[in-house]
Amino acid sequence: MNNMGINLDEKNLKKQIIDCMKSLHSRGLMTGVGGNASARQMGEEKAWITPSGLYKPDLNPSDLVNIDLEGKVIEGMFKPSIEWYFHTAIYKKRTDVNAILHTHSPFTMGLALANVKLRPITFEAATILADVPILPFKYPGTEELGNQVGDTILGKRAMILQNHGVITVGFDLIEALSTVEILEEAAIMTFVANIFGPPEEIPSDQIELIKKLYKI
Ligand SMILES: [Zn+2]
Repeated sequence: MNNMGINLDEKNLKKQIIDCMKSLHSRGLMTGVGGNASARQMGEEKAWITPSGLYKPDLNPSDLVNIDLEGKVIEGMFKPSIEWYFHTAIYKKRTDVNAILHTHSPFTMGLALANVKLRPITFEAATILADVPILPFKYPGTEELGNQVGDTILGKRAMILQNHGVITVGFDLIEALSTVEILEEAAIMTFVANIFGPPEEIPSDQIELIKKLYKI
């Protein structure tokens, strides 16, 4: 993964989606048929999204599907991910978002399933993960789920679909991918610490300072 922070041309944007899928799969953050991704060039009313049903780590750029924000296929030979509803709902509401990832990160989900909240155990957890809402279970791939995701993720970098998975958003794919990684890292640290006792947290006066500095 490279080209951080650059508004990529279409060819490199598609390659970055493919690289993201391979990276997430190789680290066990999604299965070959679970998870999906999309990205758009800044400000566009359309996005490239992973196809439905295909084995994600083996995807080629030509397998990706270009859809408009109503889910209509503009280009591509496969059906878009069944989760296109929430991808387009997010793009419609968040002009600051150009990339969306959906994973089934096992430690993040394990803690959410047990209703264990992530605490401010690291600087990243205190800032990026200060507020990760959990949406109660809704059947995947529905317009209802899409609309609720669009509303819930306003002003957030990540959210959890209970009994299902994680959604992260970013200015670009690198930012969305980093948030998946930070979430899972904090979840693993929390899991390990809880074996021996409650995890040590950043002192509350320091949290207040962080919140002021980062306007959380
Ligand atoms: Zn899923």
